[in-house]
Amino acid sequence: MSDTPFGTPPARCQTRAGGRLNWLEDAACRGLDTELFFPAGPKGPGRRQADEAKAVCRMCPVRRQCASWALVTAQQYGIWGGMDEEERVVAHRRGRLSTRENGPARMKGTDAQ
Ligand code: SF4
Repeated sequence: MSDTPFGTPPARCQTRAGGRLNWLEDAACRGLDTELFFPAGPKGPGRRQADEAKAVCRMCPVRRQCASWALVTAQQYGIWGGMDEEERVVAHRRGRLSTRENGPARMKGTDAQ
């Protein structure tokens, strides 16, 4: 078994600057087959594979960090933080909307002070 998450960790476990993502050391997927987190497709065996990967993510202590990292770095493929590609697109859009929605509220609060 590898001592790094996802077996051999090429780009998946490193920042673009080559630095380590230390939170991955606590990842529930540590040592699991990387293939599990890159399902073949959204249907059939791929769907079952994605569900299995998401089940691992649900019990992962660093799920939030993983999901945030995947959104910030715009990961296009695979299961990250319990989200597949489509779920990350939706989460990204919701993040943009909540930022817009929170903008005026923060301004009101600032005005009241
Ligand atoms: S949330 Fe899922 S993909 Fe991310 S580190 Fe945890 S188990 Fe791995």
